[in-house]
Amino acid sequence: MLYALAQQGHFLLTWLVLTVVAFVLTMLMSGVLFYRYYAHPTFETWQRKSNPQFPKPAMVRREVLQMLKGIYTATLCPAIALHLVDAGWSHAYGGLGGHSVAYLVFTFFVVWIGSDLYEFAYHRLGHTRAFWWSQHKPHHAFANPSPFAVIADDHLDQLIRSAPLLVIPLCMPINMDLLFLTYGAFFYGYGVYLHWGYELAWPNAHHPFINTSFQHYFHHARSTVNKPLHTGFFFKLWDQLAGSVYEAGPAECVCASCSIARGERTREAFDAIEKPDYSVLLSPSFWVRGGRATVELDPAR
Ligand SMILES: [Zn+2]
Ligand SMILES: [Zn+2]
Ligand SMILES: [Zn+2]
Repeated sequence: MLYALAQQGHFLLTWLVLTVVAFVLTMLMSGVLFYRYYAHPTFETWQRKSNPQFPKPAMVRREVLQMLKGIYTATLCPAIALHLVDAGWSHAYGGLGGHSVAYLVFTFFVVWIGSDLYEFAYHRLGHTRAFWWSQHKPHHAFANPSPFAVIADDHLDQLIRSAPLLVIPLCMPINMDLLFLTYGAFFYGYGVYLHWGYELAWPNAHHPFINTSFQHYFHHARSTVNKPLHTGFFFKLWDQLAGSVYEAGPAECVCASCSIARGERTREAFDAIEKPDYSVLLSPSFWVRGGRATVELDPAR
């Protein structure tokens, strides 16, 4: 599909189509969760919210605008990969491209595990070097993020995060639909879960291997320059090896499960929480004139 599109020979058209497809996919995935868990929260859903507070609409607006930057930047690398095929540089292919179905499955796992280690290492760099922190810092404007924050990144930061979409086709034969969907749906989908702001009963924050939504919420709330904490994506392994994990006993742990167990998520507490009216996000004037960005409330700090 994407390979055939690039055969038309128009680079800007390929980039535009990839951007539109990515925009629709990402807005749908983030929007559905936002509608259910932010615009229409219930006491039962709120009990499993990592940060009991809801972000202000102005912050959500800022997330979405930053996300748009992330989208058109992220689609640049696969567009280049598709157009380097004719020059003999890129091994991107469409269909089976002379390879077996087993090769498709094999490449999926190579992309999954390889990208997870790469994203961990690059994200960690963003928290350990001043220059890379300056690029990554805009993602941390959101201490209490919503599902729209997944790729709410600045240009250079997102370009490097999406570089495997170019580097992988330069290194090995890869089906471009598989690669684009793995990043655009599978990775982005997991990113939506990580920025959901809510925690599942399973896997919960204390799962031994899986990096859950709590770890990424905690990352936004507490990790900063020279303080890498849970910079991993799917697996906890890399952070465990690097020693950048948050561990706390049931008396202090700020995850939803432990907060519920301590009796902190009561109906009274829910009633006292401010539930912002997110319907302003449907008003064009709100997007044009903007909302005053307010400091996020974070009880974990
Ligand atoms: Zn970070
Ligand atoms: Zn994030
Ligand atoms: Zn806990």
